[in-house]
Amino acid sequence: MVATIHLLAGKEKSLRRLHPWVFSGAIARVKGNPAAGETVSIHSADGDWLGYAAWSPQSQIRARVWSFQQNDTINADFFKQRIAAAKALRDGLNIQSNAYRLVAAEADQLPGITIDKYDNWLVCQLLSTGADYWRDAIVAALRDLFPECSIFERSDVDVRQKEGLQPLVQLLHSDNGELPPATLWIEEHGLQLGVDIQGGHKTGYYLDQRDSRAAIQKYAAGKRVLNAFSYTGGFGLYAAAAGAAEVVNLDVSAPALEQAVQNHTRNQLSNDTLTNLQEDVFEALRKFHQSGERFDVIVLDPPKFVDSKANLMRACRGYKDINRLACMILKPGGTLFTFSCSGLLSGELFQKVVADAALDAKRPMHIIERLFQGADHPVRTNFPESLYLKGLVLRG
Ligand code: SAH
Repeated sequence: MVATIHLLAGKEKSLRRLHPWVFSGAIARVKGNPAAGETVSIHSADGDWLGYAAWSPQSQIRARVWSFQQNDTINADFFKQRIAAAKALRDGLNIQSNAYRLVAAEADQLPGITIDKYDNWLVCQLLSTGADYWRDAIVAALRDLFPECSIFERSDVDVRQKEGLQPLVQLLHSDNGELPPATLWIEEHGLQLGVDIQGGHKTGYYLDQRDSRAAIQKYAAGKRVLNAFSYTGGFGLYAAAAGAAEVVNLDVSAPALEQAVQNHTRNQLSNDTLTNLQEDVFEALRKFHQSGERFDVIVLDPPKFVDSKANLMRACRGYKDINRLACMILKPGGTLFTFSCSGLLSGELFQKVVADAALDAKRPMHIIERLFQGADHPVRTNFPESLYLKGLVLRG
């Protein structure tokens, strides 16, 4: 018998709209003694069955719904079906890469589970107690669905602490126990990109920006491009391939910048027109402004500045600062690519922040394109939080 969670009156509304989160404050009582990650049944105050969920005793999000179908059974086969459905969605997307997000957590009705496919390596992040609990079933499903693939885990993410889980990095499956190569070469829109699955950011690469990287090619030929928060230089590589006159990558990470050089070499692009600056973006932009350095195309792709509602306003000041400086060092008629991957910052507010930045810089700008995370990071209609990455392309 699974334990049952009874909600307070009125707290079932979001679940009836198939939103999968049950907050601790919504719970009236727990019948049974569920262990972390175990499946529980969620019931409304009136006793209606609402869903099967994973129990997270330490988290503010106390339960995450696996299924809203009462005749489902949460077992190994359930995970295989869900992952197969996620795969079928991606198979129909004509993704221009052999690296893509196979499972995008709540957006694929698999809360806490992220799986990225890099050629013949699958990289999992299991970030909730429920995801952690079903690790073996997830690995078995992946081995069935992708017999050619090896599997690695990169659950070294801070949010696991909120669930009472330790960070974890481990090999989950490979022939002869072989570890991922130090550099795995993937292909994206015909370009080769080196990825470090074991030590790179996230699961190794920012797959969500694939289409936005391609979008820069329209504006790059013959231009001087500043790629701020470059990581391994993806936007700069695409710009160089499209004939940029010069690319300046700017990031604090030395290994990421080193990989940017390798990427240019691998794609037979000259490193003579490539400059890598290992520096803080806020400081570097100020220096460019003071020294009179100007760019035709600027990319601002910062990490997530907003990690809680409490720091939204402080984060907005950060976004405004870099966008104001970027507007000031953009040549007349130049193009600014600016992004926010903070899910807690709405697209509307982000646009307002950028507008304020342009106003302060005394540079009226036009929005000429809007960009979003790639289709392999889909937005589930009943989980609007799955839209997190917003981009604006502005012309000065
Ligand atoms: N545009 C990249 C992804 C950028 S991720 C791509 O397409 O792959 C954000 C990057 O910002 C990370 O590489 C991180 O090292 C870097 N970063 C974070 N804070 C920074 C700062 N203050 N100054 C410079 N780089 C920073």
